[in-house]
Amino acid sequence: MTAYDPQNIFAKILRGEFPCYKVYENDHVFAFLDIMPRSPGHTLVIPKAPARNILDISAEDFAHVARGARTIAHAAMRAFKAEGIVVQQFSEPAAGQVVYHLHMHVMPRFDGVALLPPQSRKEDPAVLESHAAQLIAALQAG
Ligand code: 5GP
Repeated sequence: MTAYDPQNIFAKILRGEFPCYKVYENDHVFAFLDIMPRSPGHTLVIPKAPARNILDISAEDFAHVARGARTIAHAAMRAFKAEGIVVQQFSEPAAGQVVYHLHMHVMPRFDGVALLPPQSRKEDPAVLESHAAQLIAALQAG
């Protein structure tokens, strides 16, 4: 498997070298909105530890990401009045991975509304700002 590349875009986001709509952070994980959301509030949860995908992350760090995804899922249900949640993680090109720092997709779902195809549309920054604020408020409300 190809080695982890510290110049990938999510590593730059983690280091504060590239902007993002941050919604959550703890000692082990960082979460921010996907700028090409497949559903409103589509969030990415990443480990702070460098890992390309599920094939090189430690079990402990993967568990931290899963916990983070669960936290976001609960908040997203409330923030967006969602009716369901999809959690996805792609590892390696054959699986559809395009950014090589492990991330879990957390996507709010609504009855009868299909997910957009991956990376089909860049969301309006004002919408992303508003969605981030809604999610942050729900996270703070616990
Ligand atoms: P993958 O297919 O690797 O699981 O998904 C990568 C995700 O990263 C896609 O959903 C894509 O929309 C998202 N993405 C790509 N570039 C950026 C970026 O610069 N910022 C953010 N927030 N998301 C990105």
